[in-house]
Amino acid sequence: MSRPRVVLATRNAHKITELSRILDRAGTGVELIGLPPVDELAEVVETGRTFTANALLKARAAVAALGVPAVADDSGLCVDALNGMPGVFSARWAGRHGDDSANLDLLLAQLVDVPDEERDAHFACAAALVTPAGVEIVTHGRLDGTLARAPRGSAGFGYDPVLRPAGEARTCAELSPEEKDAISHRGAAFRRLAPAIAALVGT
Ligand code: IMP
Repeated sequence: MSRPRVVLATRNAHKITELSRILDRAGTGVELIGLPPVDELAEVVETGRTFTANALLKARAAVAALGVPAVADDSGLCVDALNGMPGVFSARWAGRHGDDSANLDLLLAQLVDVPDEERDAHFACAAALVTPAGVEIVTHGRLDGTLARAPRGSAGFGYDPVLRPAGEARTCAELSPEEKDAISHRGAAFRRLAPAIAALVGT
């Protein structure tokens, strides 16, 4: 029997794989499907000032366009020494959306004079579930850690090579996908959202 499908408001294949793994482990029994191509459904501009606002923007747009329940997430890196930035600007910190290596280089350059004991940072995630009937549920997760001075590891993406989770000698880019899911901001947010998703689709 085919599994109930829920739209994940993204075109990022990596994100679909990661969140499918997390929701499978949480026992939701749903199949996540991504958005149709850009020529069929426009890209949502992330104009929100918070992760919650952007996650809701993306989920609401998918529901409005497709008429089915949708989940979306928004996440980023919040650095104490930068007053919480890059935050919602994490993906475009160096000016061009999704240029992970430029974003990482700029961040490390900005923090070069920040001493080790002041390099606290966390990844934050808001996960939203929106239905055509107007139900809106948002959950949150965070992963606390400190920032290394140079990238280490080759797994993951974005700022993974510089964030060392609290109590961990390795960076996120040195963890296996399963190890990262267990402690990650997205893992926490989507495990909190999982019961609502399961209730919605009756699994
Ligand atoms: P979004 O949630 O896809 O909009 O991601 C925003 C940006 O935050 C990404 O492009 C990364 O730069 C950063 N980011 C979010 N989550 C992670 C993570 O788990 N590891 C590394 N970088 C992340």
